[in-house]
Amino acid sequence: MFNLILFGPPGSGKGTQSEKLISTYGFKHLSTGDLLRSEIKNQTKLGLEAKSFMDNGQLVPDAVVIGMVDAAIGANKGVNGFLFDGFPRTKAQAIALDELLGTHDTSINLVLALDVPEDELVVRMIKRAKTSGRSDDADENVQKNRIAVYKNETLAVAEHYATFDKVITLNGLGDIDVIFASLCAEIDARA
Ligand code: ADP
Repeated sequence: MFNLILFGPPGSGKGTQSEKLISTYGFKHLSTGDLLRSEIKNQTKLGLEAKSFMDNGQLVPDAVVIGMVDAAIGANKGVNGFLFDGFPRTKAQAIALDELLGTHDTSINLVLALDVPEDELVVRMIKRAKTSGRSDDADENVQKNRIAVYKNETLAVAEHYATFDKVITLNGLGDIDVIFASLCAEIDARA
């Protein structure tokens, strides 16, 4: 199994690149943002609990997200590998993920981090708001919150995996296909 984390701030292009990576490598895509939005759409108890956090640009509590990922991993036994997108987002989530994967005799092989300057992130989120229908993209204060949460809580995830030498940082600015090729080169060098 080859398990990959696609890492980066909100608006860095994780969703776009994930789609291309899953179709090339056959990873099972595990996006906690997508899973949460689907819970909201289906008006589940979990979705109702998550919505106010998401609308404010705050993180959904670790226990909720970890439980959701645990279920998704358990439901996808036998896949070639997972592509984690938007997860882990806190050090506690990273530690929980390592443990979860360990119980399935596997681990994270590689963390690919997309580097995009903050002013460009805001430009992209404003643009995405026009078509995504995502309430958390449209509001400037919410965008600022998400970037602050990324700095305060999520950067620790990259530090966690850097201690195991698993992190490669790539330029996330420029042509989508050029960025994709640079991601593929890193995977191909290890898979
Ligand atoms: P983006 O790609 O813009 O970062 P996501 O779709 O990954 O956005 O996530 C949208 C929102 O869902 C986050 O702002 C957060 O409220 C919630 N969320 C997603 N993943 C997690 C997670 N791993 N832990 C806590 N909250 C999460």
